[in-house]
Amino acid sequence: MKNFYCSIFGHKYEVSKKVTYHVKEYSCKHCNEQLTTDGNGRLTPLTPKFKEINSVLERIHKKKVKRRALILDR
Ligand SMILES: [Zn+2]
Repeated sequence: MKNFYCSIFGHKYEVSKKVTYHVKEYSCKHCNEQLTTDGNGRLTPLTPKFKEINSVLERIHKKKVKRRALILDR
């Protein structure tokens, strides 16, 4: 998936999705290669396994945010 630009200049990653406060998904502007943050805060290729983990994390995170909002509402 590496294109010519990336092999010379390296990937240009942008945040494509915020999963939680600490975990984000990134994609390269030029070749769409995807990365994510793993449990240790390091960047790792976004494999189907990590996509699955992230979708679970996202669901938990959204629930937490919602609960916090409800508490603040009172
Ligand atoms: Zn790239």
